[in-house]
Amino acid sequence: MTNYPWKSAGICLFSPHHDEVDRFCGFVKNTLAADGIDTIVMIIRYNFNFASHPECIGDYPLTKEDVRKMVAACRECGINLIPDMNLLGHQTVQDSHAPDGLLRGHPEFCETPIEEEPEYSYSLCPNAPGLYEVVCDLIDEIADAFEATDFHIGVDEVFYIGLCDRCKGQDPGDLLAAWVTKLHDYLAAKGIRMLMWGDRLLDSRACGHGPWDASMNGTHTALGKIPTDIVITDWHYHNWPRFPSVEVFAEAGHRIWLCPFNVAENAKLFLDYAKEHDRGNIIGIMETTWTPVSYLMDGLEGKELVDDGKWYKGSTPHIVRCYKSIFRPDEPWDEVPQEEE
Ligand SMILES: [Zn+2]
Repeated sequence: MTNYPWKSAGICLFSPHHDEVDRFCGFVKNTLAADGIDTIVMIIRYNFNFASHPECIGDYPLTKEDVRKMVAACRECGINLIPDMNLLGHQTVQDSHAPDGLLRGHPEFCETPIEEEPEYSYSLCPNAPGLYEVVCDLIDEIADAFEATDFHIGVDEVFYIGLCDRCKGQDPGDLLAAWVTKLHDYLAAKGIRMLMWGDRLLDSRACGHGPWDASMNGTHTALGKIPTDIVITDWHYHNWPRFPSVEVFAEAGHRIWLCPFNVAENAKLFLDYAKEHDRGNIIGIMETTWTPVSYLMDGLEGKELVDDGKWYKGSTPHIVRCYKSIFRPDEPWDEVPQEEE
């Protein structure tokens, strides 16, 4: 566990591939549980054998049996395994501009013309006819397989919103709030708590952050319009002098997870700031690990990582060091004097 005062410890990671599931279950028991992790947010995207919409299956689908094994392993260790789907932005395959599962099956749900390669990532159009129904079917299957008490809907880094003929002229904050509230209400009716990323709810100008950590396209006015029982995963990776989101979310009535990434020094700046400005709404620390889980397991199980030139493999040793600094207080806080863009 950490040296910080919050009770919960979490990690956000990508779902393992089908043939990595058994190894992952061992990793949960031998490493994550041993380090006091009690919550996992698992990024599924569309990597599941959807029976209701096989046209939406992603590239590395998990079976129901895979998920059952992971749920059992986590439950045995007292870990809450929370599935995560990206249900607005990030509709491209990781490291590619190709549409991901949902848009591959239903290009008509895209906010921008599907034939135009996005600058960063496609977004869904929250007002596309039929979208809500398909998304609810997918949520049902994931929530059932994971026996989920909590569900993360993603919604980070939405850069395309309010652009299509249906949405043009509508306030981006209203569009975001309406979509998020609709999903919240659907999950709430199933008795499931909702989580989402915080960046689209923060005003870039007020927070002093750039377009990644905070919104520059008006979506931030959704804060105050969405149900306050939505838990926010508040991520910041840079060496900002202040992290005012900690106070912003407290004032808006949301509980939050603090989510650092791969630079231990920056994580410490964020966590120290949050400790100093804590208003009692912080659940705990959840490290985000944007690297394939096989690399993460290699790194945390002490295997040497051979650099294959891909950014996430090069980043994994930093993620691992940051994890150890946070969750293994006996280790010295790692000094990583670099800031990569
Ligand atoms: Zn639209």
